[in-house]
Amino acid sequence: MSAPEPKIAQISNRLMSGDFGASHPAFLIDRDGVINEHRPGRYVNDWPDFSFLPGTLDAFRALASTPDPVIVVTNQSGVGRGVMSASALEDIHERMVGAVTSSGGRIDAVIHCPHPPAISCACRKPEPGMFFSLASRFGVSLAQSVFIGDTVTDLKAGATAGCRTILVRTGEGELTIASLAGLAAFADGTAFQAASHDSLAGFSGIARDLSAAVAHVLLGWGGLRR
Ligand SMILES: [Mg+2]
Ligand SMILES: [Zn+2]
Repeated sequence: MSAPEPKIAQISNRLMSGDFGASHPAFLIDRDGVINEHRPGRYVNDWPDFSFLPGTLDAFRALASTPDPVIVVTNQSGVGRGVMSASALEDIHERMVGAVTSSGGRIDAVIHCPHPPAISCACRKPEPGMFFSLASRFGVSLAQSVFIGDTVTDLKAGATAGCRTILVRTGEGELTIASLAGLAAFADGTAFQAASHDSLAGFSGIARDLSAAVAHVLLGWGGLRR
């Protein structure tokens, strides 16, 4: 039996054709709790369960003018557990990309791990397999890329992959902050606070939400290409 692989879908023509260059940074973004509302203890099983967080569509619109691909990187073990069909997940992602596109934004691919934890695959975050797949298949330079997520699992996966990471306070973000010893709380309205953590290489800071994280990369860092 071959090793379990992550699934890549919704690949844009630009990404497929190599338009971004042979080796390029990418904006890598977790899905649940970052793009759409996290549903504690429940999966997003179909499109009516999916609701964009405030500012998400603005964030994708801001990213549309960057020279870098925008790729969603998500664990979806509901498929492997038999809670949701692969085609239902595909439908959700098609509609998500469609909504982003029709509001002026851009998503160049969605990669997901469908496997339950029992399989011990190499792609379920905190394992870095999905990131390595993006590097080998599309030429994503992980060291130049940023991964935006809401859990310690995301921060660990990004660290192992060699990305810079940003934690958002949406989804499980507040729980994540509480679980990371030494992270100082900051005022609710703060858009971005630089932060680091001894156990998390590449961890760059905490953003109010996806929109603030994107704004920080584009304005604070001057984008990903240096
Ligand atoms: Mg998440
Ligand atoms: Zn997997």
